[in-house]
Amino acid sequence: MTETVTNWAGNITFAAKEVHRPHSLDALRSLVAAAGQVRVLGSGHSFNRIAEPGGEGVLLSLGALTGGVEVDTVARTVRVGGGVRYAELARRVHEHGLALANMASLPHISVAGSVATGTHGSGVGNGSLASSVREVEIVTADGSTVVLERGDERFGGAVTSLGALGVVTALVLDLEPAFRVEQHLFTELPLEGLDFETVAGAAYSVSLFTDWDAPGFRQVWLKRRTDEPLADFPWAVPAVRALHPVPGMPAVNCTEQLGVPGPWHERLPHFRAEFTPSSGNELQSEYLLPRRHAVAALRAIDAIRQTVSSVLQICEVRTVAADEQWLSPSYGRDTVAVHFTWIEDTASVLPAVRAVEAALEPFDPRPHWGKVFETPAATVRGRYPRMDDFTALARALDPAGKFANDFVRDVLGN
Ligand SMILES: Cc1cc2nc3c(=O)[nH]c(=O)nc-3n(C[C@H](O)[C@H](O)[C@H](O)COP(=O)(O)OP(=O)(O)OC[C@H]3O[C@@H](n4cnc5c(N)ncnc54)[C@H](O)[C@@H]3O)c2cc1C
Repeated sequence: MTETVTNWAGNITFAAKEVHRPHSLDALRSLVAAAGQVRVLGSGHSFNRIAEPGGEGVLLSLGALTGGVEVDTVARTVRVGGGVRYAELARRVHEHGLALANMASLPHISVAGSVATGTHGSGVGNGSLASSVREVEIVTADGSTVVLERGDERFGGAVTSLGALGVVTALVLDLEPAFRVEQHLFTELPLEGLDFETVAGAAYSVSLFTDWDAPGFRQVWLKRRTDEPLADFPWAVPAVRALHPVPGMPAVNCTEQLGVPGPWHERLPHFRAEFTPSSGNELQSEYLLPRRHAVAALRAIDAIRQTVSSVLQICEVRTVAADEQWLSPSYGRDTVAVHFTWIEDTASVLPAVRAVEAALEPFDPRPHWGKVFETPAATVRGRYPRMDDFTALARALDPAGKFANDFVRDVLGN
């Protein structure tokens, strides 16, 4: 390979024989049909080798394809190209007076890559980002297109697919009328006596942040839709200035806080679209488990607080409503997601990752597909009741395993 390609965090250099950025769908089809192994790289925000094609494979980037964002104001849907990022999508959708139901913490990530890994925002009533997808167009191994729509019996495997079915060239997403959101921040929420259900349901989207230096949460972020009532929040102290989730970092790159109302896409992500992080000095892990275990799971992390805090930048706790994508980490269960932004030193971080996995083990945690985890593939496999159905779908659409890589083969067990 003449070109070195890394992920955003720089902890992974992808092995690949060739890297291609096709300018047309026809060129993409020809490349796929001719290649032995293929993987697509989205915006590269995953922290593991999920996007790697392997030393004999082709890595495709879709950033040069045109035909990005087409809004249908009557149907309230949007058709998004396979390389589009949420920042551009959200801006275009908002121009039409419409909105996505939710967004992740960062708008710079690609839509196809995000839904492929089960990426989510927060909110007890909000499913993962994949739950907004109603249709997927996939260029399969022979270069032809397959369209899978909501209602098709295969659709449950089509969206959160780990890139294993083919090249996603377009997605159609549901939209709703644009709405406004205020961010209300609080500090110092104790773990002792935490009524998680009430706290997590106190606004449209709620995040709790802690560095685990002490039990309890340093910050609570409530993202309230202005068309919903403002709940009392007596459990923590209202913040008097804007805050970054990581202690000591300036809040200048964060979306506006202090209760100032603004459009949905400028409040739902924690970070501003116009702030472009070039690379992140961090690693991330995240575990999604049934929400009813939230307090017990947080206590289990609290019990290993010192191991965790020594290599941690920040831990964020969010909720995700159950969804129907077979490989979504929030498949079939209302979920609490416990996220860790670590320092960037893999060797120092892995022992803490294993300690977290051991602590959460009783709660049936599913690791985020795009982040660092050490859970054996067979264990992960066992946590997905529809895994065999997904494997059958992957075999049907890609019989020779052109889109499988080591990561996917491990997970599927073949
Ligand atoms: C700073 C930061 C913040 C984050 N915040 C959140 C968050 O709030 N919530 C959350 O859940 N996660 C979060 N993540 C994780 C991130 O959302 C996932 O890693 C997601 O997969 C990133 O999308 P991507 O396009 O960068 O994917 P990539 O890492 O590029 O790819 C991920 C997978 O998608 C596949 N893929 C990508 N595009 C296509 C395509 N067109 N066709 C077929 N397969 C494709 C790749 O082959 C790969 O398997 C965050 C990550 C970072 C670095």
